[in-house]
Amino acid sequence: MTLVLATRNPGKISEIRALLPGVRVVPAASFPGCPEPEETGRTFEENALIKARAVSRYTGRTALADDSGLEVDALDGSPGVYSARYAGTDATDQDNMRRLLDALDGISAADRTARFRCVVAVVVPDGRSWTAEGTCEGRILMAPRGDAGFGYDPLFAPTGYENTFAELDAGVKNRISHRALALGRIADVLKSLADLPD
Ligand code: IMP
Repeated sequence: MTLVLATRNPGKISEIRALLPGVRVVPAASFPGCPEPEETGRTFEENALIKARAVSRYTGRTALADDSGLEVDALDGSPGVYSARYAGTDATDQDNMRRLLDALDGISAADRTARFRCVVAVVVPDGRSWTAEGTCEGRILMAPRGDAGFGYDPLFAPTGYENTFAELDAGVKNRISHRALALGRIADVLKSLADLPD
């Protein structure tokens, strides 16, 4: 089956490709003029559905969107749905990590608990939709470590590991991540859609 990915984030695209072997994954950017709707939702689920609906409507194909972010307990769940733009609309990953470290200044290692949350949404051309969620618990370190992955990976050590997601092998991240769990939970939907014509 062909699945149009409603994201332009290269980190997400390569992880989703690795997590969906056997599925032809085409990024929305392959469709000239494909809309990038504003993420006006207050929850990951609302934003994932906004993105998947817009891309399915425009392309006439089945679309999959991932809306995800980091929830830090000491910051009452921030940056949450604002993770991509925590340090401003055009913020880089470095800018966002710097802002996070500043916000956590003075917070002890024990109080730096956090989790990544991901909601994936699948929308088919007739408008039907499904969502699934995954979370990955961990903690925020005092300084970034590692070069792999994207986003806040260099600051996030998943529970049970000393290393950050940016230091761990991609295979480890793809076994335990919020994205892996969410996609695993929507796998049956994708299987049932695989028999439909593209
Ligand atoms: P979205 O495009 O609104 O879903 O933005 C998600 C943002 O959350 C990304 O830009 C990252 O900053 C962060 N994020 C989500 N998933 C991950 C991950 O697996 N690793 C690191 N950062 C992530």
